[in-house]
Amino acid sequence: MLITNGKLATFGEANQLIEDGAILIDGDEIAAVGPTTDLVARYPEEEILDAQGRLILPGFICAHTHFYGAFARGMALKTEAPASFPQILEYLWWRLDKALKLDDVRYSALVCLVDAIRNGTTTLIDHHASPNAVTGSLDVIAEAVTQAGLRACLCYEVSDRDGEETMLQGIGENERFIKQASGPYLAATFGLHASLTLSDETLKRAVEVADELDVGFHLHVAEDKADVADSLKKSGLRVVERLEQAGILGAKTIAAHAVHIDAFEMDTLRETGTKVAHNPRSNMNNAVGVADVLGMLRRRIDVGLGNDGFSNNMFSEMKTTYLLHKLAQEDPRVMGADQVLDMAVKNNARIAGLFFSKSLGELSVGAHADIILLDYVPTTPLNAGNLPWHLIFGMDGGQVSTTIVGGKVLMKDRELLTLDEDAITARSRDFAGKLWARM
Ligand SMILES: [Zn+2]
Repeated sequence: MLITNGKLATFGEANQLIEDGAILIDGDEIAAVGPTTDLVARYPEEEILDAQGRLILPGFICAHTHFYGAFARGMALKTEAPASFPQILEYLWWRLDKALKLDDVRYSALVCLVDAIRNGTTTLIDHHASPNAVTGSLDVIAEAVTQAGLRACLCYEVSDRDGEETMLQGIGENERFIKQASGPYLAATFGLHASLTLSDETLKRAVEVADELDVGFHLHVAEDKADVADSLKKSGLRVVERLEQAGILGAKTIAAHAVHIDAFEMDTLRETGTKVAHNPRSNMNNAVGVADVLGMLRRRIDVGLGNDGFSNNMFSEMKTTYLLHKLAQEDPRVMGADQVLDMAVKNNARIAGLFFSKSLGELSVGAHADIILLDYVPTTPLNAGNLPWHLIFGMDGGQVSTTIVGGKVLMKDRELLTLDEDAITARSRDFAGKLWARM
């Protein structure tokens, strides 16, 4: 397939904006990128998808999400309003996750995947919990991902909070799924909840299994000060030091949040090559604090962006990142749009690169053919240099008209081709209502 007549932003090394650009897809990868006239002349027989002047971008990546949280939307808590992060976990998330059955897991995932396709998010790194439906839960999510046609890396969050049997099931579910997940669309890593719900014994068990399977971890790190207090109490060490000593950190590990870490811990993250996923909307919503993202980026830590279960609209996450750090630092010069885009695109591609074989986050020959078309008409001059500011101030997920993953069109002109959105939405509402009643 040849996509023609678009304003094509390559990102990646080349970082070009080709005014009348085209892109050739061969199977599941990009085979050529260049001016439309050139590519049409070279490949006259190709089926053509006319972009009609739309912006052509690589699909976006989400480095940390929770499909299972979808049914929390609009849910009333029967408790007093949570006054702290531990109370948010106790009153909301740990009550919701315990009520999940496999059907809920499936429809939670499906509604998130619909949302992802609609917003041009083509690769998602998920972190799953359903303590009363552990075994097989990752298969259910994998089926939904396969049905949607997106790319995802899955894991089950092991925790001691629901007792030993559930913890062992969680380890087993990671092990089972890691052994079977393969191929260009589905990947797996080892999930852990967070230091504050994991004993030294459990960490040791997890490391033994993960080492044997040659995978890293995906876990929450120092999201709230409660995690630090718990770690100091358990071990006399701060969270990153405790995890480092337990063998959890490393170049294949994703640490979500890293809000409450000090300079020494940042150096440890850098030295171990640990990746970080920043989730500003979630951090603001939970009022846990502001991660020192600038300090981490200065140390050349790969800090990417996740949504932590918020909408799968990475444009919103980028805008929040752009705004939050300026306000937090009281300095409008910090966190330029180019730096935000580097996190969302380059660093997220490096994180996703742990799990997928070809390049992501760029339109270059040999990269995965994950491509989105945006109905964006610039009202001021647009070039490769100022594109990040156009993105922050002018673009949004709702402008994504077409989403392609691995050369397959998942949405064309806002119409979903792989998922029946109406049916999914109706069933999701039904299952969510029942889940609320069960809680
Ligand atoms: Zn999370």
